[in-house]
Amino acid sequence: MDLYEYQARDLFAKHGVPVTKGRVATTAAEARAAAEEIGGPVVVKAQVKTGGRGKAGGVKLADDPADAEAKAAAILGMDIKGHTVHRVLVAEASDIAEEYYFSFLLDRSNRTFLAMASREGGMEIEEVAATKPEALAKVPVDALDGVDVAKARAILEQGGIPADVLDQAADLVAKLWDCFVNEDATLVEVNPLVKTPDGRVLALDGKVTLDENAAFRHPDHAALVDAEAADPLERRAKEKGLNYVKLDGGSVGIIGNGAGLVMSTLDVVAYAGEELGGQRPANFLDIGGGASAQVMADGLSIVLSDADVKSVFVNVFGGITACDAVADGIVQAIGLLGGVDKPIVVRLDGNNADEGRRILDEAHLPTLQRVDTMDGAARLAAELAAKAV
Ligand code: GDP
Ligand code: MN
Repeated sequence: MDLYEYQARDLFAKHGVPVTKGRVATTAAEARAAAEEIGGPVVVKAQVKTGGRGKAGGVKLADDPADAEAKAAAILGMDIKGHTVHRVLVAEASDIAEEYYFSFLLDRSNRTFLAMASREGGMEIEEVAATKPEALAKVPVDALDGVDVAKARAILEQGGIPADVLDQAADLVAKLWDCFVNEDATLVEVNPLVKTPDGRVLALDGKVTLDENAAFRHPDHAALVDAEAADPLERRAKEKGLNYVKLDGGSVGIIGNGAGLVMSTLDVVAYAGEELGGQRPANFLDIGGGASAQVMADGLSIVLSDADVKSVFVNVFGGITACDAVADGIVQAIGLLGGVDKPIVVRLDGNNADEGRRILDEAHLPTLQRVDTMDGAARLAAELAAKAV
């Protein structure tokens, strides 16, 4: 999960990483009030989960509260690389003598953590890496050794950070490492890390990605989830405890039991749909092992309420939960939903398949069709979707 800058700053501050004073605002009037509270010149910064805000005009200095209000009015509602600005951070403006770069990240390809440091900060790091690779130090960090002040200092020296700020910067980086580890982050990035004209070192911009697999260790991280930005169907599915992902450009709703089966169902549907005007899967939905009627009803209800969905393919391989139980679940689910008007293709196989198929046939559900092979069912679902558009 990527965080907004203001959330990243809060985490930095919690671990003692020096940041400037700041307040979040959702309206220009709130931005003015925030500037009044902070006092003196401020910087008004678009809160969007993408980089390059400065270049896009999303970071503006303001001399006084009235100016902050005007700058916030200009930034709120702005579109930055497809992200609409709903919030701004109003922060105490800093004078900048020098801008550096620093990050810790999970380096999956080398199965380790990596520290990156450069005296060339402020601009996008990809650009530094491409044009001046020698100015970017990349230092592996052993998870068990971690980063103390001495190690931090060595990394910073490799990145060419000037000697006069090394003590302060090393202290900041050691705290940043505490933040990285204790919050279970996979990325903490400070760009720019600045030196002020009076010689202080501050994190002026922050980017944090949290490892969602560690969410159970951090109940407080739930508050950082940006519910309004999520797809409304994905939000509803999450509330129901369903494993649902909306896929763009699809017309065939997919429901299956088991992540592996659902993934191969996506492939089979995409393949069958290719020669039918490019019908594609509209979602991933794994209802898991114990597919009760309620879970099936929740799943069907979410998939069917997607306007892009023209047909639904329910692909179930009966295991511990046998096909007859799943078939009962499907029949009851359609009852719970008060019937459905979109075509549903069901393929049941595995444990008690015959009994499950009999239950579906005897229910005489008007929009439901049964096909007993995965390829055949995928083809029919794609055909029905193609016919509907
Ligand atoms: P990004 O463009 O999305 O990375 O946003 P940043 O927060 O990094 O801001 C971009 C640039 O704006 C920084 O590299 C700074 O040069 C400048 N900037 C940001 N905050 C301040 C500030 O408080 N004072 C001054 N003078 N410049 C700032
Ligand atoms: Mn930045």
